[in-house]
Amino acid sequence: MNEKLTKELEIQTQNFRGLITEYCRLESVAAQNRMMPETANWVEKLLKDTGFETQQIPVAGAPNYVYGYKKGKSDFTLLLYNHYDVQPETPIELWESAPFEVVERDGKLVARGISDDKSELISRICAMRAILSADGELPISIKWIIEGEEEIGSPHFDALTREHADLLKADGALWEGGGFNEKDQAELAVGFRGMLYVEYNVEVMKKDAHSGGAHALPSGAWRLLKALASIKDDNGKVLIPGFYEHVREPNESEKQALQDKADPEMEEKILVLYGIQSFNDNKRGYELEELVFEPTANIAGFLSGYTEAGVKTVLPAKAMAKMDFRLVPEQNPDDILEKLKSHLKAQGFEDVQVRKLGGAEPVVTPIDGAFVQRIKRICQAFNEQEPEINPLVGGTLPLLEAMKKNVGILGISTAGNPVYYGSGAHAPNEHIRLSDMPRAIKFNVFMLTELGGM
Ligand SMILES: [Zn+2]
Repeated sequence: MNEKLTKELEIQTQNFRGLITEYCRLESVAAQNRMMPETANWVEKLLKDTGFETQQIPVAGAPNYVYGYKKGKSDFTLLLYNHYDVQPETPIELWESAPFEVVERDGKLVARGISDDKSELISRICAMRAILSADGELPISIKWIIEGEEEIGSPHFDALTREHADLLKADGALWEGGGFNEKDQAELAVGFRGMLYVEYNVEVMKKDAHSGGAHALPSGAWRLLKALASIKDDNGKVLIPGFYEHVREPNESEKQALQDKADPEMEEKILVLYGIQSFNDNKRGYELEELVFEPTANIAGFLSGYTEAGVKTVLPAKAMAKMDFRLVPEQNPDDILEKLKSHLKAQGFEDVQVRKLGGAEPVVTPIDGAFVQRIKRICQAFNEQEPEINPLVGGTLPLLEAMKKNVGILGISTAGNPVYYGSGAHAPNEHIRLSDMPRAIKFNVFMLTELGGM
């Protein structure tokens, strides 16, 4: 990095704080449709002020997508993805300061959305501004798509990519990223699990009854509990016939990555973070890492009967539950939905209604591919440490399926967001560590410069 760029990087690093404060003040909660146009306008202006050609892309039913393009020195075009929406701030009583006001506390900047993923957008902007001030031009061409619905599952990304595939075509893509792990390795994620999200409803009587009648009348709560219990055995195996049919084993490169990723110190930190003694099945090390290649059935919520304070002797007629299945390569959400419905029917639970609320396919970019290997070398060159490669992230990026199917693009995510394992995305007191921020911006400068040298 030359002297001029180093100096500009320092100046832009100083600007981070002001920009992130303004950005977090915009209460862009997608689930409640709060301040979405204001936030889209703010983001568009930020890109425009950085020299991007910008537009807001309307898609029926969605807050506008913000799109930017900036031609650079080389023909290589990188697609960047971010989202300007955030999770709701509830439960608000657990926040130690106002959720949408960036506050510095114990070396941390605290605010809703700061780690997921407003800081990444600002870090990328600061990096580009440093390069532009030093050099007048970006080393590569950038396309940037920023949506306002990630936190509610990107329901219109399929429509966006079908209507605007050409705008999004690129030579490589970076989704929202991570940071550096506790061993200072850059994080590089190449695969993401899919998901099937369902809601169950059961109604066994037309109204609730006095629980003095429980000897004679059916219970909606017991009915749904038994249906849910039929889905998983005591060892955590899913009992839906055919559920594991398309599950594939990790390949050799993925196994190697899992092996390298296993970190006993990190495992200890996670146990402390959640206040637990052990992981499921007492798994540790490689065995624990490898579990991510197994699909899950998680009860996200259950509602029935009386759940307020004190006593109310009621026999509930109805029960409702929500469940997410995290799917692994090569499972398909619609196939699993059909198998789930057949299973409940076969078990005699025809009365349990199943409704699909969301779905996404797992998407994996091969580790051995050219773009992944290029980014891997860049990470390595940045701080002379091998990056930590995550072959399959436990969570889901719902937009990846649409990107793959409609645009033909596979992407990855890498360092460049000043986050760490304790940032508390989606939780109260979400934060970043101030000390991680300069490195995130510097990494983005380094990566963009290196990609220009391809
Ligand atoms: Zn996010």
